[in-house]
Amino acid sequence: MGLARGIFVIDTHVHAVRVAMKFKERGVKPTYEGVFGGMTGKVQAVTYDNSERLLYHMDRYGVDMAVIMALGGDNETLIKILEKHPDRFIGRTMPSAIGRKARDGEAEWTIQAACKEMDELLSTGLFRGGIGEGMPGSPVPREDLTWRERYEEICQVVEVARKHKVPVSWHTPMGTLSGYAGASRAFAGYPRYEDPLLVHEIATTFPDVSIIMSHGGMQGWWSEMYMEPTLNVAAGHNNVYLETGLWWADLYDQPLRDPNIGPEKLIWGTDWGASIPQQWQPGLQPETYANQSRRDGIPAHQIDVFGWSLKQLDKLDIPQDDLNLVLGGNAVRIFKLEDKMPHTRLFKQYLKPR
Ligand SMILES: [Zn+2]
Repeated sequence: MGLARGIFVIDTHVHAVRVAMKFKERGVKPTYEGVFGGMTGKVQAVTYDNSERLLYHMDRYGVDMAVIMALGGDNETLIKILEKHPDRFIGRTMPSAIGRKARDGEAEWTIQAACKEMDELLSTGLFRGGIGEGMPGSPVPREDLTWRERYEEICQVVEVARKHKVPVSWHTPMGTLSGYAGASRAFAGYPRYEDPLLVHEIATTFPDVSIIMSHGGMQGWWSEMYMEPTLNVAAGHNNVYLETGLWWADLYDQPLRDPNIGPEKLIWGTDWGASIPQQWQPGLQPETYANQSRRDGIPAHQIDVFGWSLKQLDKLDIPQDDLNLVLGGNAVRIFKLEDKMPHTRLFKQYLKPR
């Protein structure tokens, strides 16, 4: 195990099932659109168990546990990994079977079918990480969908999470990953309802359900355009948390000092396995940040995001007990992982004398 930066370290956003595009085997030229199509299942791509490589990275950097998800919606492979390593991984789930059927024209996507699938997956007890990394929705664009209709769907999803006492998550930045097809896809002519500010309504309706803002407003690129609305939601509700793994060091300053956010509402989650390399702009702010580069092409290697992300945290001169909350303590509380801890009292707690 490498030198750990915290007393118990949990990465709350990891993709252990990876998508292989197999461009060469398929005899097609690599394209950026092909990568995106493969992620969403439109292109024939192969999903595979990447957990051994993940465990190697975790051991190099002293990461004790990870909340893992599938890339490409392969819950079957994910379950195998979760059953094999219950001490290192908990799962976060999305309904994948109904989405696949809807995309292939075999069944109509309904929120009821999606909720039933999630209910069954959560009943296994393997998915204490809850639902995510965003709100389940139809893979087929629905141009006339109003926010009221979408809100009613989301309420049904959150009810499933409430029943199983697990968190839900909301994917915060819309298309900030500008390298491949991400940015253009986010604004593709039909309502996607991913604005972070919409979470105000959901968080108010469900004060007893934890809501995790995936990526905490920063998934990539140097623009901070989604940071302020995301922080605004976190500051407004006790049940809203922010993932921080792709933040550069300076982005921690404001939320750490905000009396309505603070270290208690930040959780470390890097998006390991999503193949987002770091870009370098010496002399500018930030010097490094996550994004894909069309100039470099499609990464075929495993991006080292732990090293970069932990180095950003190293720059913060804050009490170690507070850093321990961000790196693991808050996740233990939110995902109810006390039974996975080697000891009690690892994380900050004080008795107030009368
Ligand atoms: Zn992700």
